[in-house]
Amino acid sequence: MQTVIAGPERDWLIRAKEYILAGEVVAFHTETVYGLGADARNDKAVRRIFALKGRPADNPLIAHVHADYEIKRLVDEFPAYAEKLRRAFLPGPLTLVCPSTGKVSGFVSCGLNTLAIRVPSSPVAQAFLREVNLPIVAPSANLSGHVSPVTAQHVFQDFEGKIPLILDGGVCEGGIESTVLDCTGPVPRILRAGLVTREMIADVAGACEVYSFRSGEKPKSPGLAYRHYVPHCKTASFSAEELSDAVALYRKEEQEGGKPCFLCENGLVKQLAGYAVLDLGENAEQMAHRLYLHLHTAEEIATLLIAVLPRPQEGGVMDGVLNRLTRACGGGHGV
Ligand code: AMP
Ligand code: MG
Repeated sequence: MQTVIAGPERDWLIRAKEYILAGEVVAFHTETVYGLGADARNDKAVRRIFALKGRPADNPLIAHVHADYEIKRLVDEFPAYAEKLRRAFLPGPLTLVCPSTGKVSGFVSCGLNTLAIRVPSSPVAQAFLREVNLPIVAPSANLSGHVSPVTAQHVFQDFEGKIPLILDGGVCEGGIESTVLDCTGPVPRILRAGLVTREMIADVAGACEVYSFRSGEKPKSPGLAYRHYVPHCKTASFSAEELSDAVALYRKEEQEGGKPCFLCENGLVKQLAGYAVLDLGENAEQMAHRLYLHLHTAEEIATLLIAVLPRPQEGGVMDGVLNRLTRACGGGHGV
């Protein structure tokens, strides 16, 4: 199969709809990362997504709809706070998990009695979703475990010859996946941190909890249990206080004939003059935007990526950035 990267012109949207109705899989731009889309009602198409990605069978998918789609059609209950959050943040990078049974293929939620729903704001995603006018399941368009794609080229690298079409919208502005919010209880609870932060949600909903996954227990959101976002090169991570250890590892890799590279916040770039550095930027939003771009670049230029973690700040977008960064580069110094 030939994989075409095409703009979102009308002809391609019509073609995308034909593919979706035929049970094919089409990748598309969103404001967070590229998604791998299929008809949420079609068992075979949904299973094909899991097969294409090598995704564990217990990791459920998010259903994407356009801005005028009646979300209530997809759920059994939609609490009052979810309605407030929908008005405040959608379309945008927030996924709402609500009680739902039998509305889409049973393979979407892997047997859970909930459905995760998202309304992306990217004009390409909106145009595509309006054209099909169906719920489209769309996990990130990467092989399971690999770094999420933020350009059409990244999708192509993982799925060339396996899908017919990638709807190109350029680089994804947000850069990390949506905030996933459990809306099944009396108070909303963050399952995965993202660009819509705990503070923003609490402002609108009155309160917001954060779910923390303890290893060994059955996670509330199955995706949380897997190592994720991992680049093909070796990785290590250090705190800013351990910079001299990080530099020692860099030199060792160089002496052994490898090509090391640092990944750090802008404040450390001057201290690392003379070394290969990928600059994450100055604030959490910039870091979210650049993180996956840099992880993809590291695969091309480095044998070892050494992350120096930004100083932890509680809350805000930094929660999402640190979550992705530590899962990508491991929690420690082992390469
Ligand atoms: P991805 O599609 O790769 O961005 O991953 C989707 C994330 O949403 C994963 O972490 C899933 O575990 C989570 N998710 C999807 N559906 C549900 C659901 N019904 N309940 C809880 N988490 C979900
Ligand atoms: Mg993913």
